[in-house]
Amino acid sequence: MSETTGLTDASISRIVAELKTENLVDETRLTAPYQGGPSAFLTLSKDRHVGAVEFSSGRVHVGVGSLTGEIRFSEWLDLPDGADLETVRATYRRALHQLTDHVDRTGIQLRQIAVSIPGYHEDLRVNPIIAIDPANILADIQAAQPGVALLTANSIMTRAVAHQLKQGVGVAAGPYLYVFVGHGVGAALIDDFAASGDVAPCEIGHMVLDPRGPRCRCGHAGCLEAYVSTAAVAPALGIREQDLLTIGAWQAGRLKLSARSRGDLATRLIRLGHALGNALNLTPVRRVVVAGWPAELCDQVQEAVLGGIDASLFGGASTVTLAFSNAELGREPAAGLALATYAYLQRGAMRAEELAADIVTNHPGQR
Ligand SMILES: [Zn+2]
Repeated sequence: MSETTGLTDASISRIVAELKTENLVDETRLTAPYQGGPSAFLTLSKDRHVGAVEFSSGRVHVGVGSLTGEIRFSEWLDLPDGADLETVRATYRRALHQLTDHVDRTGIQLRQIAVSIPGYHEDLRVNPIIAIDPANILADIQAAQPGVALLTANSIMTRAVAHQLKQGVGVAAGPYLYVFVGHGVGAALIDDFAASGDVAPCEIGHMVLDPRGPRCRCGHAGCLEAYVSTAAVAPALGIREQDLLTIGAWQAGRLKLSARSRGDLATRLIRLGHALGNALNLTPVRRVVVAGWPAELCDQVQEAVLGGIDASLFGGASTVTLAFSNAELGREPAAGLALATYAYLQRGAMRAEELAADIVTNHPGQR
């Protein structure tokens, strides 16, 4: 940790002491709450809670979780693609009502709420994916949960941060392209997350591969998403989209696909590879992590994706490292709660650093 934050062990001990006096952390020797994490020396306090409102997979999800990643409450309502502004607002307000109801009933005080919206970009006034006014939803949440800190993020940002927290600090060295392929398709360039929190979201799902291709929900035609989203792939596999969205490696291994389905799947995965290769052509990054449904079928899809990359990346795919991250599908609102936890800890850590600086400046004798 000291390597990535640039803090000395002594100042970390002081910050930890401050966090403990604020009941933010307990010092124990339990296992980290996320898979692959360090064999923890700290656990986050269980009695602090965060909330999430996550628009994902044709639904609006709401949830409450502890800082340790335990989900205390979760609920969802259907919100089909193409719903108008009024329907979207009425639906998330009903979901918010359920969240508030839970918070009131349990007496939990939320420290942070993360709002995760596909197609959300700060500078974009009209969202092409979902009819939602970010100012309205923030005002509605503020009215329902007065005084709670809010963070709004693009869905891929939410997925990328949740992926990083699952990996643990310091595991993924060097920059990489994280790609999530679900009901929506997005990517993020991640570089030195532990030190800088640097995540650059990009709309790879709306890279147009064929302007005469199938209609996409963004209004264009032939986008990558129109070929590889769960909405497009499930019918080709002969299963329901909700079944593909919750598929695990075990079920994926038992899928009985006809030769025709297998061929169709390979064509779609090659297109995914083309888009990835084209994205890599714009950056020196050569590591790719794919999450979502292809990660559950990883043994069956690796070759096709790499073949697609090889056909579009300048110089071919030989310099590319392709990895899959499974168990990230159908995890709403866990990803939103991970983002809320991250946002809360970032604010808390900043406060602790200020406190540490204050100790060093004003109480040198305590060093
Ligand atoms: Zn599109």
